[in-house]
Amino acid sequence: MTASGMGKQRAYLDYNASGPLEAAAREAMIDALSVTGNASSVHGEGRKLKAMVSEARRAIAAMVGADPQHVVLTSSATEAANTLLTPDWRMGRSGLRFSTLYVCAADHACTLAGGQFPPDRVQRFGVDATGLVDLDALADALGRHDKSEGLPLLAVHAANNETGVIQPVGEISRIVKDAGGFLIVDAVQAAGRIPIAIADGWGDFLILSSHKIGGPQGAGAIVGVSDLAMPVPLLNGGGQEKGHRAGTENVAAIAGFGAAARLVDDKLAAAAKIATVRDRFEHAVLSAFPDAEIHGLAAPRLCNTSFFSLPTMKAETAQIAFDLAGIAVSAGSACSSGKVGPSHVLVAMGRGDQATGLRVSIGRETGEEELGAFAEALSKMAAQRSARQVAA
Ligand code: PLP
Repeated sequence: MTASGMGKQRAYLDYNASGPLEAAAREAMIDALSVTGNASSVHGEGRKLKAMVSEARRAIAAMVGADPQHVVLTSSATEAANTLLTPDWRMGRSGLRFSTLYVCAADHACTLAGGQFPPDRVQRFGVDATGLVDLDALADALGRHDKSEGLPLLAVHAANNETGVIQPVGEISRIVKDAGGFLIVDAVQAAGRIPIAIADGWGDFLILSSHKIGGPQGAGAIVGVSDLAMPVPLLNGGGQEKGHRAGTENVAAIAGFGAAARLVDDKLAAAAKIATVRDRFEHAVLSAFPDAEIHGLAAPRLCNTSFFSLPTMKAETAQIAFDLAGIAVSAGSACSSGKVGPSHVLVAMGRGDQATGLRVSIGRETGEEELGAFAEALSKMAAQRSARQVAA
């Protein structure tokens, strides 16, 4: 996709940070913004907005094979994570307590931060050199969990936002079940790229985000296998979302999220084609820099993501060079871009404390134009590197 918002045409290769808004999502948002009212009001305007929220809820549930009753709409995946990652839960009228949160060292910051758990109650589990969760180490850690203080709660990403590595969620789910715990799966980057069926080994709760699937920013969801056990709400007030998340619904954002969710099957159908384009980007990287390392190659990966390191060139330097050439790529995750630092994902994969990488993440719209601009910018960088090496 070329983006014209900044003067000349640019090549946008940062879909994992945020993807383009789908036309259907924009239309649904405009329809919602055209209605004055509050979705909780009982008058006609309120009922109209409530119907838009319900329609979106059904679409979001259908995207992951869930019951719409088990969807709690939030302002973001980050809010969903902070709501779920709490020691305090309810099961009917009884309390349910989780004593320790286990998070994957390569998770996104929204779960890695530990939610509402005190820092000394958060334990990290690792990934191997390929980026996959070390299942034996995880089973060991959970085997040592002392249930007398509470149950284990575990969070893991289904697909990594930096490398695109797809975790064996089904196996992780079995390990967590055997340990008597709950599994929260951050499916933000997986949605729309690999099929998700919540009842089919995807844990107890999913975290979703609208703007990674072509909806607007500022909408997310918690989706449960059931609602028998639920976290004590993070936001209390007017009782919206059946009391699980108070606050007047952002109907336009929710409607846009729902419209994008309805397009997910088309996106899944395009996955093989997107992977072919992604492979051509990687070919361009290796042609210009034969010593480049592409991360996560030995593991199953998302169709649209490539994360690589160019030896002797800092990721930030390369990112700036791409930007000046009119190409948007990321050096790490969007939340930390702007600050120079190593990739915690590469660190978790054992690439050293200072490891950095560049991420190209694409979508259905990415084609020859972007590929050409990317390959040209890379060859220029490679030529400059050779010139520097000769001069040195
Ligand atoms: N989880 C993953 C894997 C992500 O990549 C992101 C965003 O980059 C998030 C969670 C946070 O999503 P949101 O922007 O909706 O808070």
